[in-house]
Amino acid sequence: MQTRTALVTGSSSGIGLACAHRLAASGMNIMLHGLEDEAFGQQLCEQFARYPVKCAYHPADLSDVSQLESLITATLEHFDTLDVLVNNAGIQYTAPTEQFPPEKWDQIIAINLSAAFHTTRLCLPHFQQKGFGRIVNIASVHGLVASINKAAYCAAKHGLVGFTKVVALENAAAGITANCICPGWVDTPLLNDQIAAIATEKNRSAEQAKHDLVVDKQAYPDLIKPDAIGDMVVFLCSDSARGINGAALPIDGAWSAQ
Ligand code: NAD
Repeated sequence: MQTRTALVTGSSSGIGLACAHRLAASGMNIMLHGLEDEAFGQQLCEQFARYPVKCAYHPADLSDVSQLESLITATLEHFDTLDVLVNNAGIQYTAPTEQFPPEKWDQIIAINLSAAFHTTRLCLPHFQQKGFGRIVNIASVHGLVASINKAAYCAAKHGLVGFTKVVALENAAAGITANCICPGWVDTPLLNDQIAAIATEKNRSAEQAKHDLVVDKQAYPDLIKPDAIGDMVVFLCSDSARGINGAALPIDGAWSAQ
């Protein structure tokens, strides 16, 4: 079988990095991406030397559409093809709505939502021509339910879930699927600010604050491992998953079951 190629946005850290590792372990070539420079990317690629696949890195600030376009162009030029797009890059900021800085709103919408629109619109013609494509959007349980102080994040992630359904409907007959994964609390640096805020507010250790954060929302009382998200991405790219389309799949320790 021909080796497939995947682009994972925000794969310099956390969930994206885990997705890239799991996809590479499954035999896919990988375009890594992040905000960090080429030297960092070079070191990152060395981690992937253990897999019998090709790996490259391209930096781009996804809130800048011209940089985003250069990421897609660089991917297609480097690998001459693309089969899988994982829209994972994302940021968080928390504040009550009336205090939410407008520039933070714009930044979150740009990175967590609009970037997925732009990468998707640029990749779709290629997927349509091939008659194959897998789009996996890393949304959040906040694409399904809300929490206080997360106006922009919830708006972006709910938007991503809706956008994904449209792409799935439009392309279902063309061998392309588009799905969201909706994680609960995953063990990554994205949570650091929220854990620090609880530790300060409640005078708790970082470990206690992490536990408080998790059990406030999840029935499963522990952080979810980034690899678990990566394994779901690999499954969604498999032939067995061809009928899963337009779905928003929670991996949230029963958070959204309540
Ligand atoms: P992380 O902070 O570890 O990684 C974020 C990645 O996004 C990094 O590679 C970073 O370089 C990239 N990124 C940030 N701003 C960017 C920009 N302007 N342009 C390009 N890339 C940028 O975070 P994570 O927890 O791994 O989050 C990954 C995704 O998973 C995000 O979309 C996040 O919303 C989602 N998510 C995380 C959790 C969680 O609990 N950690 C839960 C649900 C959903």
